[in-house]
Amino acid sequence: MNEPFRIGTGYDIHPLVEGRPLVLGGVEIPFEKGLLGHSDSDVLAHAIADALLGAAALGDLGTHFPDTDPRYKGISSLEILARVVELIGERGLLVANIDSVILAERPRLAPHIPEMRRRLASALKIDIERVSVKAKTNEGLDAIGRGEAMAAQAVALLRKK
Ligand code: MG
Repeated sequence: MNEPFRIGTGYDIHPLVEGRPLVLGGVEIPFEKGLLGHSDSDVLAHAIADALLGAAALGDLGTHFPDTDPRYKGISSLEILARVVELIGERGLLVANIDSVILAERPRLAPHIPEMRRRLASALKIDIERVSVKAKTNEGLDAIGRGEAMAAQAVALLRKK
C-alpha cells in the first residue's frame, strides 16, 4: 500500500423502540425511544467505525466486535471507535477526515451535533475540524420516516503516517 490516501464507506441501521436510551455520536439525547441492539446501538458511531475499517480493508465491525461476544454487551461505541483507531494505526494509517449523515425523522438533532462532533473527535484522537456530522429526516418515507428506525452513513479518508 504505497498510495498516500485510502477511502472507506460505512452504513448502519437500528430499530427504534421504547425503553431504550437514544445515543448518537456518544451523546445521550432526550427522547421517548432509543435504538435497539446489543451495544449502546449508537448507529452513527457504528457507521463511522465501518467506514474506518473499510478504508483500511480490515473487514467490518461485526467481525471485530461480534454481538455474540459478552465483552461487547452494553459497551460504549466510543470505546469501539477508539479501538478501531488503534487497529488502523497498527497498519500505519491515520484518520484524515470523516463525513457522516444521520437519517432520523425525530427528534431534531441539530442542537446536539456540536457535542457529537466533540465526542467523536475525542474518541478518534483527531481535531474536531476533521469530523463532520449532518442530520436529515427521511421525509416521512419508509421505516425511518415512520419513526421505526434510525440509520447513518459515513465516509472516512485515511492517510499514511
Ligand atoms: Mg450497529
